[in-house]
Amino acid sequence: MSLTRIAIVGGGPVGLTLARLLLNKPKIEVVVFESENSQNARGQGGSLDLHPTTGIAALKEAGLYDEFLKRARFEGEALTICDKHLTKYVELAGSDEKSSHGRPEIDRKSLREMLLDSIPPDMIRWGHHLRTIDENHNLIFDHGIEMGFDLIVGAEGAWSKTRKLVSEQAPDYAGISAFTFEIPNAKETAPECYQLSNHGSLFSYSDGRSIMSQCIGDGRLKVAVYAIWPKQWAENPTFDINDLDATRKAILEECHDWSPELLQFVRNAQDPEFRPLYMLPVGWSWENRPGVTLIGDAAHVMTPFAGEGVNLGMQDALKLSRAIIKGANSPNPQVTLPTEIKAYEDDLFVRAKETSTLTSDMMNWLFFSGGSLGSVIEKVALRRLTFYDKSPLQRAKYPLMWALIYGYYFLFKLQY
Ligand SMILES: Cc1cc2nc3c(=O)[nH]c(=O)nc-3n(C[C@H](O)[C@H](O)[C@H](O)COP(=O)(O)OP(=O)(O)OC[C@H]3O[C@@H](n4cnc5c(N)ncnc54)[C@H](O)[C@@H]3O)c2cc1C
Repeated sequence: MSLTRIAIVGGGPVGLTLARLLLNKPKIEVVVFESENSQNARGQGGSLDLHPTTGIAALKEAGLYDEFLKRARFEGEALTICDKHLTKYVELAGSDEKSSHGRPEIDRKSLREMLLDSIPPDMIRWGHHLRTIDENHNLIFDHGIEMGFDLIVGAEGAWSKTRKLVSEQAPDYAGISAFTFEIPNAKETAPECYQLSNHGSLFSYSDGRSIMSQCIGDGRLKVAVYAIWPKQWAENPTFDINDLDATRKAILEECHDWSPELLQFVRNAQDPEFRPLYMLPVGWSWENRPGVTLIGDAAHVMTPFAGEGVNLGMQDALKLSRAIIKGANSPNPQVTLPTEIKAYEDDLFVRAKETSTLTSDMMNWLFFSGGSLGSVIEKVALRRLTFYDKSPLQRAKYPLMWALIYGYYFLFKLQY
């Protein structure tokens, strides 16, 4: 029995989902190479909402749905979308498993922990930072070389080294950067912010800026301030971005006419981190090259404004696992690992283009259309609500949805 050896480079949510999906499958051996030294080497950030046909579908096929339900935060589905005056254009309550809107939150840390617990510890090699891959597909790490893989899967995120095997393309600056912060123990330390976040997320947008807050399971609020900053500024900020007071002062000046309740998030924020956003071009694809492929952000890093990145990536993992299992086990000489990887990529390019177009539309409408949230809310809502369902029935319902959304916001705006 010949064994198909798979190297997954990157143990983020997407690489680990793939590893789990390939666990104990006949004729397949998997190794994950992860640059961090251990599971707790760095904080895993905020919270992610997983969607039924993508992220959750992958967890179901991986046999992890019950465990996911134990960790999911349905109350985290509470969502407020407002402008700088705190005019609330969208207000959704939290839910429970039965009343879910289909987008439960899970802390990134918990998702990674769940995935790591679901694979044998020796499947992942910590402290393996990939430097490059040579023309013979040898993986060159800081401390040695690994070789002999039938397929190398680049799952190492935006700055993928594996991507260099298939293309020179690198992500470009998206024109927007974020300061991210934390408010620990928000219920006690910043009760007004905690209340406004309502156990879920609050997103405010105006004038090409956004103040966002997300509740995390351990009582923290993850706060982010996004704004259009030119590339030169993002590469050379004009103040010390690690200086909390200087950062707060700069943001408070920029947002001087925002509602005091929203500015409270900035006043209470700690631990600033600066994050310029990068994206691959919408619709980017590569020429198939046997023995290597990409998943997750390595294949399609995009800005977070549609909240789809990890979901699309986990769907990649689902589809790639099926391709590998089929290719590795087929008795039909026409169905091989290379033919199945090519089919996976052809499908990926279509899915990634759809999702990155959605993301780019959201970013352009919410940040680059110059005005307030109120001037774009109808198209944002319509696009979001019709994105997943591409059935003929949905197309037939579209004029009705259009009329309902535009009618609702026409009446809503009369109040202001
Ligand atoms: C601020 C922000 C908010 C977001 N919010 C959402 C959201 O709400 N919903 C959503 O769906 N998506 C969101 N995203 C996108 C989401 O975070 C990504 O799509 C997702 O993390 C991609 O997972 P990944 O496993 O492909 O890559 P990553 O999460 O980047 O994981 C890559 C892994 O590879 C490792 N690695 C990197 N380089 C190497 C190397 N050379 N050798 C070995 N290992 C390496 C890293 O240590 C890491 O563990 C957000 C992104 C950002 C920046």
